[in-house]
Amino acid sequence: MISRIDMRGSLPEDLRDVLPRAELDVEAALEKVRPICDDVRHRGAAAVRELTARFDGVEIASARVPAAEIRRALDELDPRVRAALEESIRRARLVHRDQRRSDVTTQVVPGGTVTERWVPVDRVGLYVPGGRAVYPSSVVMNVVPAQEAGVASLAVTSPAQKEFGGLPHPTILAACALLGVDEVYSVGGAQAVAMFAYGTEECPPATMVTGPGNIWVAAAKRLLKGRIGIDSEAGPTEIAILADETADPVHVAADLISQAEHDTIAAAVLVTTSPELAEAVEKELPGQVSATRHSERITEALGGRQSGIVLVSSIEDGIKVVDAYAAEHLEIHTAGAAEVAARIRNAGAIFVGTYAPVSLGDYLAGSNHVLPTGGCACHSSGLSVQSFLRGIHVVDYTREALAQAAAHVSVLADAEDLPAHGAAVRARFDWRVPTETE
Ligand code: NAD
Repeated sequence: MISRIDMRGSLPEDLRDVLPRAELDVEAALEKVRPICDDVRHRGAAAVRELTARFDGVEIASARVPAAEIRRALDELDPRVRAALEESIRRARLVHRDQRRSDVTTQVVPGGTVTERWVPVDRVGLYVPGGRAVYPSSVVMNVVPAQEAGVASLAVTSPAQKEFGGLPHPTILAACALLGVDEVYSVGGAQAVAMFAYGTEECPPATMVTGPGNIWVAAAKRLLKGRIGIDSEAGPTEIAILADETADPVHVAADLISQAEHDTIAAAVLVTTSPELAEAVEKELPGQVSATRHSERITEALGGRQSGIVLVSSIEDGIKVVDAYAAEHLEIHTAGAAEVAARIRNAGAIFVGTYAPVSLGDYLAGSNHVLPTGGCACHSSGLSVQSFLRGIHVVDYTREALAQAAAHVSVLADAEDLPAHGAAVRARFDWRVPTETE
């Protein structure tokens, strides 16, 4: 059901090459999404409607979801789902509110200051996937940090669903209502990203587009990056578990399965020092998989080249392996899990010990679940308040403070053969470099 890689001898030099990873050829998809994005750019709302008919199999009269439908979805929401979503929102707000940044002013010299001023982007388009599964939790994870960052204009889009008359899934609409979002579109895929990037008659352009999605969404974000800001490309989900002999195979198997449930190309990787645990997990998996609803999808994900059990000879080696893998989600099931977690450098989010499974993080830990995948955790972070802020440097110098810097500016400008730079400073001092006392 799941393959094994034995690294108990010496670790390979470049671990990234030997660790399993999903094949996701976003570059190849770029060529397919280019005409989709161009079509939306040139024909606007009509193109969005036609592409929705083609890719989602449903005719929509308008991409904008009427306010009455959003209210109705909330009125008809199962009260238990409402209570869970409200608690998810409450916890996410607690964490994301603490991520807000204050402006910092540094006095560089007397009379010379640099202030870093944090300013939210003006308008954000938030993509909530809705192809294979429906993710109201992704509404929470996108909207809460944008709201806490102070983004003034915020729109959500999610694929039109045939069985709901071309609207997004009602639970997504209800989540929008709970969060106070009233601008919602029933558009998915690359055309949704293009709609936000270029704007249409129905949807004003956005400055930034965030949120996870499939390969078409990722490719459109990559193609339109620059015109719009994007978060990191959040692709198929990944879980890595670092475990020793103290881990419970039932929990480990359940957690691997929980993330394999997302997608046939989702990755589930166990890195362990214990051959006994590896064997026990291998034994545990088939029973748990066959007992769960999406067993076919999970079987394919666990059997794919992107999933596997890696045997290592020490926790030190295990840390090297999971650091090289840079998983979206990393669970630590070892003795002294908190200390081991503190030594990890690359992961989207780290879940410490038996009682912090990734499923908690997916919905209710308070942390964000839009996290970098595909190894991007070695250079990028998950979605946060920071994702929606720009730090603007405000430079404020007096005449005296500029005079102090003038000679150095002139010298550096000449060294770069850019004499007009030095001249721009000298022009303020009758075209000469001021003395130290000026
Ligand atoms: P999706 O909403 O991303 O994509 C569905 C859309 O794709 C459709 O609306 C359709 O317009 C478009 N599409 C389908 N086939 C197409 C084709 N042949 N050409 C062009 N466009 C096409 O939903 P999904 O497919 O279920 O994918 C969601 C992905 O997001 C999964 O891989 C899941 O694992 C991932 N995800 C990641 C996170 C995270 O935080 N990393 C969270 C939730 C979901």
